[in-house]
Amino acid sequence: MIRKIRLFTPGPTPLLPAAQFAMAAADIHHRTAEFRALYQRVLDQLKTFVGTKNDVLLLASSGTGAMEAAVSNLTSPGDRVLVLSAGKFGERWVALANAFGCAVDVVNVPYGQTFSLDEVRKALKIETRAVFMQATESSTGVRHDVEGVARLLKKADSGALLVVDAITGLGTTHFEVDGWGVDVIIGGSQKAVMIPPGLAYLGVSNRAWEAMEISLNPRYYFDLRKERKNAHKGESSYTPAIALIAALGAALDYIASQAGGDLAAGRDALIDNAEKCAAMTRAAVEAMGLKLFAPAAPAAAATAVLPPAGVDSGVIVKELKNRFGAVITNGQGEMKGQIFRVAHIGLFDYMDTIAIVGALEQIAISTLKIPDFEFGQALAAAQRVFAEVVSPTKPELAVSAR
Ligand SMILES: *Cc1c(COP(=O)(O)O)cnc(C)c1O
Repeated sequence: MIRKIRLFTPGPTPLLPAAQFAMAAADIHHRTAEFRALYQRVLDQLKTFVGTKNDVLLLASSGTGAMEAAVSNLTSPGDRVLVLSAGKFGERWVALANAFGCAVDVVNVPYGQTFSLDEVRKALKIETRAVFMQATESSTGVRHDVEGVARLLKKADSGALLVVDAITGLGTTHFEVDGWGVDVIIGGSQKAVMIPPGLAYLGVSNRAWEAMEISLNPRYYFDLRKERKNAHKGESSYTPAIALIAALGAALDYIASQAGGDLAAGRDALIDNAEKCAAMTRAAVEAMGLKLFAPAAPAAAATAVLPPAGVDSGVIVKELKNRFGAVITNGQGEMKGQIFRVAHIGLFDYMDTIAIVGALEQIAISTLKIPDFEFGQALAAAQRVFAEVVSPTKPELAVSAR
Protein backbone atom coordinates (compact mmCIF):
# COMPACT_ATOMS: atom_id res chain seq x y z
CA MET A 1 0.00 0.00 0.00
CA ILE A 2 1.11 3.60 -0.41
CA ARG A 3 2.10 5.42 2.70
CA LYS A 4 0.44 8.68 3.59
CA ILE A 5 2.46 10.30 6.35
CA ARG A 6 0.43 11.45 9.33
CA LEU A 7 1.75 12.93 12.56
CA PHE A 8 0.42 11.54 15.83
CA THR A 9 3.03 13.45 17.82
CA PRO A 10 2.54 15.85 20.75
CA GLY A 11 4.36 18.69 18.97
CA PRO A 12 4.84 19.47 16.22
CA THR A 13 1.26 18.45 15.59
CA PRO A 14 -0.51 18.20 12.20
CA LEU A 15 -0.85 21.55 10.44
CA LEU A 16 -4.21 23.14 9.78
CA PRO A 17 -4.48 23.72 6.00
CA ALA A 18 -6.10 27.15 6.43
CA ALA A 19 -3.16 28.19 8.61
CA GLN A 20 -0.69 27.01 5.98
CA PHE A 21 -2.41 29.14 3.35
CA ALA A 22 -2.39 32.16 5.66
CA MET A 23 1.32 31.64 6.21
CA ALA A 24 2.07 31.49 2.53
CA ALA A 25 0.15 34.73 1.95
CA ALA A 26 1.78 36.67 4.80
CA ASP A 27 4.01 38.82 2.60
CA ILE A 28 3.74 41.93 4.75
CA HIS A 29 6.08 44.23 6.65
CA HIS A 30 5.79 44.38 10.40
CA ARG A 31 5.97 48.15 10.84
CA THR A 32 2.74 48.77 8.96
CA ALA A 33 -0.87 49.36 9.89
CA GLU A 34 -1.71 46.08 8.21
CA PHE A 35 0.53 44.09 10.53
CA ARG A 36 -0.48 46.06 13.61
CA ALA A 37 -4.11 45.18 12.94
CA LEU A 38 -3.24 41.51 12.54
CA TYR A 39 -1.07 41.48 15.66
CA GLN A 40 -3.63 43.18 17.85
CA ARG A 41 -6.36 40.87 16.63
CA VAL A 42 -4.29 37.75 17.30
CA LEU A 43 -3.24 38.94 20.76
CA ASP A 44 -6.91 39.56 21.59
CA GLN A 45 -7.91 36.13 20.28
CA LEU A 46 -5.14 34.56 22.34
CA LYS A 47 -6.58 36.08 25.51
CA THR A 48 -9.83 34.31 24.79
CA PHE A 49 -8.10 31.08 23.85
CA VAL A 50 -6.04 31.12 27.05
CA GLY A 51 -9.09 32.26 29.02
CA THR A 52 -7.65 35.30 30.76
CA LYS A 53 -8.24 39.02 31.05
CA ASN A 54 -4.50 39.52 31.57
CA ASP A 55 -2.17 40.57 28.79
CA VAL A 56 -1.01 37.72 26.59
CA LEU A 57 2.34 38.18 24.86
CA LEU A 58 3.82 36.45 21.84
CA LEU A 59 7.49 35.60 21.51
CA ALA A 60 9.42 34.40 18.48
CA SER A 61 10.82 31.24 20.06
CA SER A 62 9.88 27.70 20.83
CA GLY A 63 8.03 27.07 24.08
CA THR A 64 11.21 26.89 26.11
CA GLY A 65 11.89 30.55 25.28
CA ALA A 66 8.77 31.54 27.21
CA MET A 67 9.77 29.22 30.06
CA GLU A 68 13.13 30.98 30.20
CA ALA A 69 11.41 34.37 30.03
CA ALA A 70 9.26 33.43 33.03
CA VAL A 71 12.33 32.51 35.08
CA SER A 72 14.52 35.45 34.02
CA ASN A 73 11.78 38.08 34.36
CA LEU A 74 10.37 36.91 37.69
CA THR A 75 13.37 35.89 39.75
CA SER A 76 16.58 37.24 41.20
CA PRO A 77 19.73 35.24 41.93
CA GLY A 78 19.33 33.48 45.25
CA ASP A 79 15.51 33.48 45.17
CA ARG A 80 13.98 30.33 46.54
CA VAL A 81 11.66 28.65 44.03
CA LEU A 82 9.81 25.36 44.00
CA VAL A 83 9.62 23.09 40.96
CA LEU A 84 7.09 20.27 40.74
CA SER A 85 8.81 17.76 38.52
CA ALA A 86 7.63 14.45 37.11
CA GLY A 87 9.38 14.17 33.78
CA LYS A 88 11.59 15.77 31.16
CA PHE A 89 9.76 19.09 31.11
CA GLY A 90 9.71 19.37 34.90
CA GLU A 91 13.45 18.79 34.77
CA ARG A 92 13.68 21.66 32.29
CA TRP A 93 12.23 24.02 34.93
CA VAL A 94 14.87 22.84 37.38
CA ALA A 95 17.66 23.44 34.84
CA LEU A 96 16.32 26.89 33.94
CA ALA A 97 15.92 27.98 37.55
CA ASN A 98 19.45 26.77 38.30
CA ALA A 99 20.80 28.60 35.24
CA PHE A 100 19.41 31.86 36.64
CA GLY A 101 20.88 31.29 40.08
CA CYS A 102 17.71 30.42 41.98
CA ALA A 103 17.81 28.26 45.11
CA VAL A 104 15.70 25.42 43.76
CA ASP A 105 13.53 23.11 45.85
CA VAL A 106 12.06 20.21 43.93
CA VAL A 107 9.11 17.91 44.49
CA ASN A 108 10.16 14.95 42.42
CA VAL A 109 7.87 12.06 41.67
CA PRO A 110 8.59 9.02 39.48
CA TYR A 111 7.85 9.21 35.78
CA GLY A 112 4.25 8.30 35.03
CA GLN A 113 2.95 9.73 38.30
CA THR A 114 1.75 13.08 39.57
CA PHE A 115 2.63 14.65 42.93
CA SER A 116 0.20 14.76 45.85
CA LEU A 117 -0.84 18.17 47.11
CA ASP A 118 0.47 17.11 50.50
CA GLU A 119 3.97 16.81 49.11
CA VAL A 120 3.62 20.27 47.58
CA ARG A 121 2.39 21.74 50.85
CA LYS A 122 5.35 20.29 52.72
CA ALA A 123 7.86 21.61 50.20
CA LEU A 124 6.43 25.14 50.18
CA LYS A 125 8.42 27.60 52.30
CA ILE A 126 7.59 31.09 53.54
CA GLU A 127 10.29 32.49 51.29
CA THR A 128 9.24 30.54 48.16
CA ARG A 129 9.01 33.17 45.43
CA ALA A 130 7.57 31.07 42.65
CA VAL A 131 6.22 27.61 41.94
CA PHE A 132 6.93 26.16 38.50
CA MET A 133 4.97 23.23 37.13
CA GLN A 134 3.59 21.62 33.99
CA ALA A 135 -0.15 21.33 33.36
CA THR A 136 0.50 18.17 31.40
CA GLU A 137 3.92 16.47 31.37
CA SER A 138 4.15 15.50 27.71
CA SER A 139 7.10 13.16 28.28
CA THR A 140 5.04 10.79 30.43
CA GLY A 141 1.43 11.55 29.49
CA VAL A 142 0.53 12.76 32.98
CA ARG A 143 -1.87 15.53 33.91
CA HIS A 144 -1.03 17.57 37.01
CA ASP A 145 -3.54 19.30 39.25
CA VAL A 146 -3.04 22.99 38.47
CA GLU A 147 -6.26 23.97 40.22
CA GLY A 148 -5.24 22.04 43.34
CA VAL A 149 -1.83 23.70 43.48
CA ALA A 150 -3.37 27.15 42.91
CA ARG A 151 -5.86 26.55 45.72
CA LEU A 152 -3.12 25.32 48.01
CA LEU A 153 -1.06 28.47 47.41
CA LYS A 154 -4.05 30.67 48.20
CA LYS A 155 -4.94 28.71 51.30
CA ALA A 156 -1.37 28.81 52.55
CA ASP A 157 -1.46 32.58 51.94
CA SER A 158 1.75 32.10 50.01
CA GLY A 159 3.20 35.02 48.14
CA ALA A 160 4.64 32.61 45.59
CA LEU A 161 3.79 33.18 41.95
CA LEU A 162 2.33 30.19 40.13
CA VAL A 163 3.96 29.62 36.74
CA VAL A 164 2.42 26.91 34.57
CA ASP A 165 3.95 25.38 31.47
CA ALA A 166 0.68 24.62 29.73
CA ILE A 167 2.39 24.11 26.39
CA THR A 168 0.46 20.87 25.92
CA GLY A 169 -2.13 21.75 28.57
CA LEU A 170 -3.75 24.60 26.64
CA GLY A 171 -6.29 23.16 24.25
CA THR A 172 -6.43 19.83 26.13
CA THR A 173 -7.39 20.89 29.66
CA HIS A 174 -10.00 23.29 31.00
CA PHE A 175 -8.39 26.10 33.01
CA GLU A 176 -9.76 29.02 35.02
CA VAL A 177 -6.57 31.00 34.67
CA ASP A 178 -7.70 34.16 36.47
CA GLY A 179 -10.16 32.48 38.82
CA TRP A 180 -7.59 30.04 40.14
CA GLY A 181 -4.86 32.66 40.25
CA VAL A 182 -2.38 31.31 37.72
CA ASP A 183 0.23 34.05 37.35
CA VAL A 184 1.97 32.92 34.19
CA ILE A 185 0.57 30.40 31.73
CA ILE A 186 2.63 29.37 28.75
CA GLY A 187 1.68 27.92 25.37
CA GLY A 188 3.52 26.99 22.18
CA SER A 189 2.52 27.24 18.53
CA GLN A 190 3.36 23.67 17.51
CA LYS A 191 0.84 22.13 19.90
CA ALA A 192 -2.92 22.69 20.18
CA VAL A 193 -3.04 25.64 17.79
CA MET A 194 -2.02 23.47 14.83
CA ILE A 195 0.69 25.65 13.32
CA PRO A 196 4.45 25.09 12.95
CA PRO A 197 6.95 25.57 15.79
CA GLY A 198 8.41 29.02 16.34
CA LEU A 199 5.98 30.96 18.53
CA ALA A 200 5.52 30.91 22.27
CA TYR A 201 2.77 32.79 24.07
CA LEU A 202 2.19 33.59 27.69
CA GLY A 203 -0.48 35.17 29.86
CA VAL A 204 0.90 37.27 32.71
CA SER A 205 -0.96 38.40 35.84
CA ASN A 206 -0.72 41.78 37.54
CA ARG A 207 1.10 40.17 40.44
CA ALA A 208 3.70 38.85 38.02
CA TRP A 209 4.10 42.27 36.36
CA GLU A 210 4.72 43.73 39.81
CA ALA A 211 7.31 41.07 40.60
CA MET A 212 9.16 41.96 37.40
CA GLU A 213 9.74 45.48 38.69
CA ILE A 214 11.97 44.22 41.48
CA SER A 215 13.52 41.11 39.95
CA LEU A 216 17.22 41.34 39.15
CA ASN A 217 18.01 38.55 36.73
CA PRO A 218 19.33 39.69 33.32
CA ARG A 219 17.05 39.68 30.28
CA TYR A 220 17.19 41.30 26.91
CA TYR A 221 15.47 39.52 24.01
CA PHE A 222 12.91 38.10 26.42
CA ASP A 223 12.28 41.32 28.36
CA LEU A 224 8.56 40.93 28.94
CA ARG A 225 8.00 44.49 30.15
CA LYS A 226 9.40 45.87 26.92
CA GLU A 227 7.38 43.35 24.91
CA ARG A 228 4.20 44.36 26.68
CA LYS A 229 4.78 48.06 26.08
CA ASN A 230 5.23 47.41 22.38
CA ALA A 231 2.32 44.97 22.19
CA HIS A 232 0.00 47.70 23.46
CA LYS A 233 0.96 49.64 20.33
CA GLY A 234 0.39 46.62 18.10
CA GLU A 235 4.10 46.01 17.69
CA SER A 236 6.66 43.49 18.78
CA SER A 237 10.05 44.52 20.13
CA TYR A 238 11.97 42.80 17.34
CA THR A 239 11.04 41.38 13.95
CA PRO A 240 8.07 39.13 14.70
CA ALA A 241 7.47 35.73 13.14
CA ILE A 242 4.99 37.37 10.76
CA ALA A 243 3.97 34.26 8.85
CA LEU A 244 3.38 32.28 12.03
CA ILE A 245 1.29 35.08 13.48
CA ALA A 246 -0.87 35.09 10.35
CA ALA A 247 -1.17 31.31 10.69
CA LEU A 248 -2.14 31.63 14.33
CA GLY A 249 -4.92 34.06 13.42
CA ALA A 250 -6.28 31.58 10.89
CA ALA A 251 -6.03 28.72 13.38
CA LEU A 252 -7.87 30.64 16.09
CA ASP A 253 -10.55 31.53 13.52
CA TYR A 254 -10.88 27.83 12.75
CA ILE A 255 -11.20 26.95 16.43
CA ALA A 256 -13.90 29.63 16.78
CA SER A 257 -15.67 28.24 13.71
CA GLN A 258 -16.13 24.95 15.54
CA ALA A 259 -18.62 26.71 17.79
CA GLY A 260 -20.34 29.13 15.45
CA GLY A 261 -17.68 31.83 15.79
CA ASP A 262 -17.41 31.76 19.59
CA LEU A 263 -13.70 31.25 20.30
CA ALA A 264 -14.07 30.33 23.98
CA ALA A 265 -16.69 27.72 23.11
CA GLY A 266 -14.54 26.50 20.20
CA ARG A 267 -11.61 26.09 22.57
CA ASP A 268 -13.81 24.07 24.91
CA ALA A 269 -14.86 21.91 21.96
CA LEU A 270 -11.18 21.41 21.09
CA ILE A 271 -10.48 20.34 24.67
CA ASP A 272 -13.45 17.97 24.76
CA ASN A 273 -12.29 16.57 21.42
CA ALA A 274 -8.83 15.80 22.84
CA GLU A 275 -10.41 14.25 25.92
CA LYS A 276 -12.55 12.03 23.71
CA CYS A 277 -9.69 10.92 21.49
CA ALA A 278 -7.57 10.20 24.58
CA ALA A 279 -10.32 8.19 26.27
CA MET A 280 -10.88 6.18 23.07
CA THR A 281 -7.15 5.47 22.81
CA ARG A 282 -6.82 4.43 26.44
CA ALA A 283 -9.71 2.01 26.14
CA ALA A 284 -8.28 0.60 22.92
CA VAL A 285 -4.77 -0.10 24.20
CA GLU A 286 -6.14 -1.62 27.39
CA ALA A 287 -8.36 -3.87 25.29
CA MET A 288 -5.13 -4.97 23.58
CA GLY A 289 -3.76 -6.04 26.94
CA LEU A 290 -1.28 -3.17 27.06
CA LYS A 291 -0.75 -1.04 30.15
CA LEU A 292 -1.03 2.73 30.38
CA PHE A 293 2.08 4.46 31.69
CA ALA A 294 0.08 7.09 33.58
CA PRO A 295 -3.17 5.35 34.53
CA ALA A 296 -3.93 7.45 37.61
CA ALA A 297 -3.83 10.91 36.00
CA PRO A 298 -3.73 10.58 32.22
CA ALA A 299 -3.39 13.72 30.12
CA ALA A 300 -5.61 14.35 27.11
CA ALA A 301 -2.60 15.75 25.24
CA ALA A 302 -0.99 12.36 24.67
CA THR A 303 -1.37 8.79 25.83
CA ALA A 304 1.78 6.98 26.97
CA VAL A 305 1.67 3.20 26.70
CA LEU A 306 3.97 0.45 27.92
CA PRO A 307 4.88 -2.13 25.26
CA PRO A 308 4.48 -5.83 26.14
CA ALA A 309 7.22 -7.10 28.48
CA GLY A 310 10.49 -7.65 26.65
CA VAL A 311 9.52 -5.54 23.64
CA ASP A 312 11.36 -2.30 22.81
CA SER A 313 8.72 0.39 22.20
CA GLY A 314 10.87 1.56 19.28
CA VAL A 315 9.68 -1.50 17.36
CA ILE A 316 6.09 -0.25 17.53
CA VAL A 317 7.15 3.28 16.58
CA LYS A 318 9.07 1.96 13.60
CA GLU A 319 6.36 -0.42 12.39
CA LEU A 320 3.70 2.27 12.54
CA LYS A 321 5.91 4.56 10.48
CA ASN A 322 7.11 1.98 7.97
CA ARG A 323 3.86 0.16 7.38
CA PHE A 324 1.26 2.86 7.91
CA GLY A 325 3.04 6.22 7.66
CA ALA A 326 1.87 6.99 11.20
CA VAL A 327 4.45 8.97 13.17
CA ILE A 328 4.15 8.50 16.92
CA THR A 329 6.81 9.20 19.55
CA ASN A 330 9.08 6.98 21.56
CA GLY A 331 9.96 7.78 25.18
CA GLN A 332 12.31 10.74 25.68
CA GLY A 333 15.85 10.36 27.06
CA GLU A 334 16.23 7.36 29.33
CA MET A 335 12.57 6.50 28.68
CA LYS A 336 13.48 5.57 25.12
CA GLY A 337 12.38 2.05 24.33
CA GLN A 338 10.15 1.90 27.40
CA ILE A 339 6.99 3.66 26.27
CA PHE A 340 5.33 4.90 23.12
CA ARG A 341 3.17 8.01 22.96
CA VAL A 342 0.17 8.79 20.77
CA ALA A 343 -0.95 12.43 20.68
CA HIS A 344 -4.45 13.88 20.72
CA ILE A 345 -3.54 17.58 20.94
CA GLY A 346 -4.67 19.83 18.11
CA LEU A 347 -6.02 18.62 14.81
CA PHE A 348 -6.91 15.02 15.68
CA ASP A 349 -10.43 13.72 15.48
CA TYR A 350 -12.51 10.57 15.63
CA MET A 351 -11.33 9.42 12.21
CA ASP A 352 -7.65 9.79 13.13
CA THR A 353 -8.18 7.96 16.39
CA ILE A 354 -9.95 5.03 14.76
CA ALA A 355 -7.17 4.88 12.15
CA ILE A 356 -4.32 4.73 14.66
CA VAL A 357 -6.16 2.13 16.72
CA GLY A 358 -6.70 0.06 13.57
CA ALA A 359 -3.00 0.23 12.70
CA LEU A 360 -2.08 -0.69 16.28
CA GLU A 361 -4.33 -3.75 16.00
CA GLN A 362 -2.38 -4.86 12.93
CA ILE A 363 0.89 -4.55 14.85
CA ALA A 364 -0.55 -6.23 17.95
CA ILE A 365 -1.30 -9.30 15.87
CA SER A 366 1.49 -9.46 13.29
CA THR A 367 4.44 -8.13 15.29
CA LEU A 368 3.63 -8.28 18.98
CA LYS A 369 1.62 -11.51 18.66
CA ILE A 370 -0.41 -10.59 21.72
CA PRO A 371 -2.08 -13.83 22.89
CA ASP A 372 -5.87 -14.05 22.60
CA PHE A 373 -6.13 -10.69 20.90
CA GLU A 374 -8.32 -10.57 17.83
CA PHE A 375 -9.01 -7.93 15.21
CA GLY A 376 -11.70 -5.55 16.27
CA GLN A 377 -11.37 -5.82 20.03
CA ALA A 378 -9.51 -2.54 20.46
CA LEU A 379 -11.62 -0.83 17.84
CA ALA A 380 -14.77 -1.98 19.60
CA ALA A 381 -13.51 -0.56 22.89
CA ALA A 382 -12.76 2.79 21.22
CA GLN A 383 -16.13 2.81 19.49
CA ARG A 384 -17.94 2.21 22.76
CA VAL A 385 -16.11 5.08 24.45
CA PHE A 386 -16.96 7.38 21.55
CA ALA A 387 -20.61 6.43 21.70
CA GLU A 388 -20.74 7.04 25.45
CA VAL A 389 -18.84 10.27 25.56
CA VAL A 390 -20.69 12.08 22.80
CA SER A 391 -24.09 10.83 23.86
CA PRO A 392 -26.38 13.84 23.50
CA THR A 393 -28.26 12.64 26.55
CA LYS A 394 -25.23 13.38 28.68
CA PRO A 395 -24.26 16.98 27.94
CA GLU A 396 -23.18 17.33 31.58
CA LEU A 397 -20.08 15.29 30.80
CA ALA A 398 -18.53 18.12 28.88
CA VAL A 399 -19.65 20.66 31.46
CA SER A 400 -18.44 18.79 34.53
CA ALA A 401 -14.99 18.33 33.06
CA ARG A 402 -14.54 22.10 33.19
C1 LIG B 1 6.69 20.85 23.71
C2 LIG B 1 6.80 21.18 25.15
C3 LIG B 1 7.63 22.21 25.63
C4 LIG B 1 8.41 23.15 24.76
O1 LIG B 1 9.38 22.62 24.05
P1 LIG B 1 10.00 23.47 22.86
O2 LIG B 1 10.74 22.41 22.13
O3 LIG B 1 10.85 24.50 23.42
O4 LIG B 1 8.85 24.06 22.10
C5 LIG B 1 7.63 22.49 26.98
N1 LIG B 1 6.86 21.82 27.84
C6 LIG B 1 6.04 20.85 27.43
C7 LIG B 1 5.20 20.17 28.44
C8 LIG B 1 5.99 20.49 26.08
O5 LIG B 1 5.17 19.52 25.67
